[in-house]
Amino acid sequence: MKTCDYLVIGAGIVGLSLALELKRRNPGARILVLEKERELAQHGSGRNSGVLHAGFYYTADSLKARFTREGNARWKRFIEERGLRINRCGKLVVAKNEQEVEGLRELKRRGDLNGVETHLISLEEARRIEPRVKSVELVLWSPHTATVDPKECMAAVAEECRAQGIEILLGTPYRARRGSDILTPKEVFSAGFVVNAAGLYADRIAHDFGLGLRYRILPFKGLYLYGSEPKGALRTNIYPVPDLRNPFLGVHFTVTVEGQVKIGPTAIPAFWREHYQGLQGFNLREALSIVWDEALLFLRNDFNFRTLALEEVKKYAQPYLVAQASALLEGVRRENFRTWGRPGIRAQLYDHQARRLVMDFTLEGNAEGLHVLNAVSPAWTAAMPFAEYLADQIESLHKGRELSLQG
Ligand SMILES: Cc1cc2nc3c(=O)[nH]c(=O)nc-3n(C[C@H](O)[C@H](O)[C@H](O)COP(=O)(O)OP(=O)(O)OC[C@H]3O[C@@H](n4cnc5c(N)ncnc54)[C@H](O)[C@@H]3O)c2cc1C
Repeated sequence: MKTCDYLVIGAGIVGLSLALELKRRNPGARILVLEKERELAQHGSGRNSGVLHAGFYYTADSLKARFTREGNARWKRFIEERGLRINRCGKLVVAKNEQEVEGLRELKRRGDLNGVETHLISLEEARRIEPRVKSVELVLWSPHTATVDPKECMAAVAEECRAQGIEILLGTPYRARRGSDILTPKEVFSAGFVVNAAGLYADRIAHDFGLGLRYRILPFKGLYLYGSEPKGALRTNIYPVPDLRNPFLGVHFTVTVEGQVKIGPTAIPAFWREHYQGLQGFNLREALSIVWDEALLFLRNDFNFRTLALEEVKKYAQPYLVAQASALLEGVRRENFRTWGRPGIRAQLYDHQARRLVMDFTLEGNAEGLHVLNAVSPAWTAAMPFAEYLADQIESLHKGRELSLQG
């Protein structure tokens, strides 16, 4: 049996950032991170858009609003100190009609409340930033949005963990708990405190601890379609006004660190948690449970799920996806967008009692452990200050207090 002070399940950006923060606060502590994959960044933290969000989408009372602006600045410092790549290209949010112009004004209001710099500018001014942009009347400019290479960043964070004496055990999946012991296929671990940061499987592990029982993960697949236009063909990220009632940002153009353009990600309901391609990651029991949830949501059309699903599924067709994206930008040609990229799957939390998608990061915990649920976008951007908040919550739990989950 291996013993440790803190056992973190999941070596994504949330698990690793929290391990670093716990080590900073408790230099003598033994911290182990269990990762089921043999390599890092195989799920959300290695398959995202790589956008450092600025923080203007989220209502001011949310944890997302509280940590995104600072998370963006902290990543930039981390990246600069290590000479990693970053594209400080900003973002334009465009409106397709008058109603969406109201949406832009709402985003501006949210940005102001969250202390995030944004500017409502004319289409003419926006065209000085990106000549091909399309919009009605106004455009929202976010100068602090940037793009990074998530895999490169993850490798640097893991290196930092190892340098601090944190052990990352690859190929070591959490299987079950027996009393206070954690079972993996090869070893049993006895931990002072357990942190569940398992992304797509965080709900399942929380349930083993008798927590988060009203929630299940509903996976949504994000496809990316890469463009063959030469580097520099697009100068900034171009996003639509999202439907603020759901947590997705709508199909957009991202400029990668290399200056390449990609369209996506979609938000297509997936049938199992790691349903990236074909039968990869297929598990019958898991698929039956997820498809059952989705079928009920589809029939009842809770939170407009049927409309969302029917619309999103059309985006498997490249011509449809390109046509949608071409509403944001001039000169988007179907023949220039033909290569699918590596898809990602959002670990979106679904509250089956309230029958709605959960919008904010969600935590449950007790004296045994802390469970991070719904670490969806922008948890990549927000990871460093979010980890400090999680460490504060763990300190409260150690003192026998309850979680104080105020945004
Ligand atoms: C398509 C897409 C685009 C996105 N774009 C952005 C963006 O541009 N900007 C942004 O800020 N955010 C973005 N996000 C969100 C961001 O990627 C996530 O918020 C973030 O990566 C969550 O990190 P995590 O550590 O919680 O999860 P993960 O990175 O998924 O890490 C969880 C880890 O737990 C491991 N694990 C699971 N089960 C077990 C087990 N039983 N035992 C041991 N290990 C286990 C997994 O293998 C995985 O490595 C995007 C997400 C997606 C899917």
